Amino acid sequence: MKVPAGKRVVVVGEVMLDVLCLSPGPALTEGGLYVRAGGSAVLTALALAAAGRPVALVGRVGSDANGAWIGDLLRSAGVTLTVPPSRTLATGYVILHRRRGVDRVVYVERGANRDLGPEDAGEQTLDGAGWLHVSGYSLIEPGPAAVARSLAGLARRRGLRVSLDPGVPRAFGRLGPEELGRTLSLGLEADPGRAQGPAGPAGPAGPAAPVPPAGPDGPDLLLPSAAMVQCLRGARTAAGEVVVKDGESGAWVAGEHVALEPGLVRPGADLSGAGDVFNAALIDAVMAGSDLADAARRGNDAAAVFVAGGLAGSSAPGRGWIRVRTQEPPVLISACLAGVASAYDGRHRIGPVAAASPPDEVLHLPVCPEQAGGLSTPRSPAEIRGGDGDAVIRGAAAVIDRDGRDLTSAFIRGARRAVDLARAVGAVRAVLKDESPSCGTTLIHDGTFSGRLTAGRGVAAAALARLGLDVLPASLAGEDPGRTPAGE
Ligand code: SF4
Repeated sequence: MKVPAGKRVVVVGEVMLDVLCLSPGPALTEGGLYVRAGGSAVLTALALAAAGRPVALVGRVGSDANGAWIGDLLRSAGVTLTVPPSRTLATGYVILHRRRGVDRVVYVERGANRDLGPEDAGEQTLDGAGWLHVSGYSLIEPGPAAVARSLAGLARRRGLRVSLDPGVPRAFGRLGPEELGRTLSLGLEADPGRAQGPAGPAGPAGPAAPVPPAGPDGPDLLLPSAAMVQCLRGARTAAGEVVVKDGESGAWVAGEHVALEPGLVRPGADLSGAGDVFNAALIDAVMAGSDLADAARRGNDAAAVFVAGGLAGSSAPGRGWIRVRTQEPPVLISACLAGVASAYDGRHRIGPVAAASPPDEVLHLPVCPEQAGGLSTPRSPAEIRGGDGDAVIRGAAAVIDRDGRDLTSAFIRGARRAVDLARAVGAVRAVLKDESPSCGTTLIHDGTFSGRLTAGRGVAAAALARLGLDVLPASLAGEDPGRTPAGE
């Protein structure tokens, strides 16, 4: 299927700030701290743009400095971000540790990626497009999944080709085969114009498990890894054609092995990100008129070049990673101080220093413990009754909102999440919004909803201080957000 030159690819998926800590240990960043625009969809979009394809990315960042930095980076690479930043959720981030050349995900915050819904994409999103590619990570949360399904339906009606990379098995670990098959079908009905596709690879030379039978429903092209094939066992994942990415061995196209040229990638190399680059090269080649086997060869070559760029095996980061200038451990910051309207009243409490610092200069990781605990924005204000954050942690006080609801467990959950993040990045400092029942560092409201303040820390501030972090109000960290209404 040759697609006219100049037609763009629309990619749907998550936008993440990837944070890489090399040789993490007690001094977490002694080996180096790096950041990049990340997420499977972003890496695929960047690789397509590098190949000269016009690309639009349907994904969302937050209105914090990390989101602005990623937006600039994508624009300068030629990728159009079609959705404006989220007001109320911070840019998502993934914390990776690299030991002996292998990356391990230790913390994921989806953040603004959750704030995507059907109103963020429509017919106009596909104008000028020749191909829709969906990253499986967009199918995890209901809002982004609705966007992916809606765009897939529109693309099918317009006769565009639809591909799907289902991502990694752990993303769908809780789904049974039937639900997994339904999820990966993208809600696409049988296309009367499409013939039954060829069976997936099987047999002694193929990957360990056969791919579920291809069929007339679902995306036109499924691009799973060999590991994902195991997860798909028993799922009726109908797709027109299937290309399985099998690490350093190459790929499988309809049962045929398309081997990677020997020696291009050393056995055991860390291939993270290579599958996304493979997708981009394959899509670009098919759009240019190549058959699938030839396109898979192009994918192999592009992935090998990407891996050889330093991503695998060595301690040097690969393409796209940018060393953080200060090399200090990341600083946790209240999301509302970083420009995110996460406060109970749906507003931010912006702090100028954090809002102005791009992550490659000083890395701030915004966290809103109340959102992390499961509370929505806006929400009823809450105060601690019977003590402070330390007393809440001891079980001697409670957090009550203005409507009388007991939110203690949500506040504890959010504080735990902040502690997990601090541990994952080896943080030694947190800049928090004073006077909040979560983030207050020196003052909190007295529990009467009268506007009166009392000395004490919020729940998350107390938990982070117990972990040993230096917990500072914005005023002492060179930021002055000013006094705010009762509750925060
Ligand atoms: S003060 Fe803390 S809990 Fe409250 S909105 Fe800001 S980040 Fe969230």
